[in-house]
Amino acid sequence: MAFSIKDKQAFLFDMDGVLYNSMPNHARAWVEAMNRTGISMKTEDVYMQEGCTGPQVIKNMGRERNDLDVTDQMCQDIYRLKSEIFRSMGKVDIMPGALDVFEKIKQAGKTIVIVTGSGQPDMINRLLTDFGAYVTRDMMVTAFEVKRGKPYPDPYLAGLQKAGVGPSQAVVIENAPYGVRAGVAAGIDVIALNTGPLEDRFLLQEGAKILYPSMSAFCQNWDELNK
Ligand code: CA
Repeated sequence: MAFSIKDKQAFLFDMDGVLYNSMPNHARAWVEAMNRTGISMKTEDVYMQEGCTGPQVIKNMGRERNDLDVTDQMCQDIYRLKSEIFRSMGKVDIMPGALDVFEKIKQAGKTIVIVTGSGQPDMINRLLTDFGAYVTRDMMVTAFEVKRGKPYPDPYLAGLQKAGVGPSQAVVIENAPYGVRAGVAAGIDVIALNTGPLEDRFLLQEGAKILYPSMSAFCQNWDELNK
């Protein structure tokens, strides 16, 4: 049987690379901040690590690449630098199709929760401006709400709690391998949107039910998915 979202009551959306076309800037900011600090990081690493909280990314890269034990203070300093570089690049665009999808969900009387590993207050505030017609701060899970970020299921389990539904009644929309893994680990069906440079297989092998190349493609397939 084809995958259907007809009976899903809650939609749990990742933010970067799903609601905002922000990943190219994040990737440049990460590579620059890490390399300035002496930890080697490539663009592809950013996309493979996407979904982890900032401090997790820094610890993972320190361990994997340089066998470096990164202290909490170093994490804070590097993450602050990365966030500054990201901010200096200017405003990122809303992903085309995102507001249309949110409107369809609202019309259907269903719930939206945003589940992000981001701990950048400026981005979280922007969500309230751009998507304020659909979500309140209450319906967001950020780096401030959970101790363990993606790929652990914790953020999506917190999202289910906010939505007040069980895993079978929800669907996750993700663009990153670790994000898909986190959704699957929480027992939720995942729609993957491959909006970045990685091959589709990285998302599919984590257990995504279906994959689209963009939010617009997801939006265009709305009726088909609701059969
Ligand atoms: Ca993402």
